[in-house]
Amino acid sequence: MADDCVFCKIVAGETPATRVYEDEDTVAFADLNPQAPTHVLVVPKRHIADIVELSKDAEPGAALLRGIRRTAEASGLTEFRTVFNTGAQSGQSVFHVHAHVLGGRRMLWPPG
Ligand code: AMP
Ligand code: ZN
Repeated sequence: MADDCVFCKIVAGETPATRVYEDEDTVAFADLNPQAPTHVLVVPKRHIADIVELSKDAEPGAALLRGIRRTAEASGLTEFRTVFNTGAQSGQSVFHVHAHVLGGRRMLWPPG
């Protein structure tokens, strides 16, 4: 667990969150500031900063993809957008890698 990481604290149960899915490698919980009718964050239980770090080994990325699929299934989503922000300029504000899973409305492209 990384010091002062809010998502590590959610994984550990020290910070409350509305959990929608959990398995041995991942936890998914509702985003506090939802941007769609369903907006869930899927995170690895282990602290990994971003997808650059995540992709250095095959297994953690595969586990996170599996968690995304299962989170979508648990949320009743067959169509959804998945976003990974990497770096502050891209909009990353929490440096524990997380997939935003958004669904329940038509999505626009390009994103802002
Ligand atoms: P990003 O800006 O891509 O790093 O996404 C961070 C996301 O985490 C934002 O959409 C926030 O609304 C969300 N967030 C921050 N703190 C919490 C929390 N305690 N519980 C749930 N979502 C959170
Ligand atoms: Zn963390």
